[in-house]
Amino acid sequence: MAELGRIILTEQQIQSRVRDLGNEITRDYKNTPFVAIGILKGAFLFLGDLAKQIDTEMCFDFMATSSYGRGTTTSGEVRIIKDLDDSIEGRHVLVVEDIIDTGLTLNYLLEVLRKRGPASLKVCCLLDKPSRRQVPVQIDYVGFEIPDVFVVGYGLDCAEVYRNLPYIASLKT
Ligand code: 5GP
Repeated sequence: MAELGRIILTEQQIQSRVRDLGNEITRDYKNTPFVAIGILKGAFLFLGDLAKQIDTEMCFDFMATSSYGRGTTTSGEVRIIKDLDDSIEGRHVLVVEDIIDTGLTLNYLLEVLRKRGPASLKVCCLLDKPSRRQVPVQIDYVGFEIPDVFVVGYGLDCAEVYRNLPYIASLKT
């Protein structure tokens, strides 16, 4: 198992930013019931904490996409492993992602979702690595911009390990 490097974001920093994002989303969706789509598995802790900070009508659905497998670089290939349970036609949709790296996953997902005719489609991600972008994607709510380092914790894994950490750390190289 890869060893942890240094802490990039503490639990306190994450929780404070998640509160701010929740307030922003509450304000923007005050009279607009919406469905939050959590992208599994990485976004499960983030969406759980974020949802507790959202004080307006919302419901949940989940999608799972193929990940990097056991490596730490993108294969460029995106596959839907689990699709939504319900239709999003005519509904306001907020996609909740753990991290945007090259943008390939999100770009593909947004194309798929747009074709299903949502009333609106926005994106909230915890982490953004803008320096790694290969395709432009619009992100409406960003938790933190981080440099080009592979990170784990708070939902993010390395070979399925470390998702349970309450903070975000790099790996020892
Ligand atoms: P993208 O398609 O934007 O390159 O990658 C998005 C997905 O790659 C994320 O949802 C996440 O699963 C994975 N990913 C990208 N960067 C990292 C990272 O630093 N750490 C971990 N654990 N996963 C990452």
